[in-house]
Amino acid sequence: MDLSAFSLEGKTVMVTGANTGIGQGIALSIGRAGGRVIGVGRSSMEDTAEKMKEAGATFVPISADLGSAGAAQAMFDDVWAAHGPIDGLVNNAGIIKRVDAVDFTEADWDSVMDINLKTMFFLCQSLGRKTMAEGRQAQIVNIASMLSFQGGIRVASYTASKSGVLGITRLLANEWSAKGVNVNAIAPGYIETNNTEALRADTDRSSAILGRIPAGRWGVPSDIGDAAVFLLSRAANYMHGAVIPVDGGWLAR
Ligand code: NAP
Repeated sequence: MDLSAFSLEGKTVMVTGANTGIGQGIALSIGRAGGRVIGVGRSSMEDTAEKMKEAGATFVPISADLGSAGAAQAMFDDVWAAHGPIDGLVNNAGIIKRVDAVDFTEADWDSVMDINLKTMFFLCQSLGRKTMAEGRQAQIVNIASMLSFQGGIRVASYTASKSGVLGITRLLANEWSAKGVNVNAIAPGYIETNNTEALRADTDRSSAILGRIPAGRWGVPSDIGDAAVFLLSRAANYMHGAVIPVDGGWLAR
């Protein structure tokens, strides 16, 4: 087997929300596979920068709030101009609001949709435009969810956004597959991060969730990071519009 097909040597990958959780795990996996990571986020990237250094990986931290799609696109163009072409994009930054549907506010709806779906799409557009204009190749990995397939409970805007992430991944694959841009998604199962802190603190929900995960454990960020390396690498050249569940078997149940 040609293991170099899985190497990210020589590639620059932008990862949003790289300061913590799944985004940090993805950054570390990319770094270990030889890629340079541009980590974008609104909070300090110091922890990730330190871990990347320990791994001997190259990391460029960029401070940006991704709540506005227009500002995210301006940031993308600035980064391209300052740090050179971007070969990969992982749209990981995202938020969740847990509120009963009857009490859901417009703000709970908009804030989640803005970052999880709108900014995700417009960052894809930024990379697609530059890549195709310059005749380059690029890989996009969007972070979906079990709620791209299921309804969930008390997370209306999150379910809508993550169902949308899967739809947009497929749409972009249809438009860009023959133009040098691979667009795919990863659907993480239940992963130990800030996002699931409230769920894990609720003993009833937590044991109900664990009880139906065939692998018998919650996932960790590196589980997602290593799958992202595959989708960003040459090994996934013929993958377009696919979604890989990394869920300990949750969807198989
Ligand atoms: P997390 O620890 O809460 O991380 C979310 C990341 O998104 C953080 O880096 C956060 O930055 C960033 N972010 C949120 N709003 C932002 C904004 N306006 N501007 C810039 N950055 C922003 O959660 P996670 O579990 O790692 O989530 C990562 C992705 O995986 C999300 O898309 C989430 O929906 C998805 N996911 C998670 C799970 C799970 O079980 N954990 C399952 C399926 C999908 P701050 O630290 O500054 O808030």
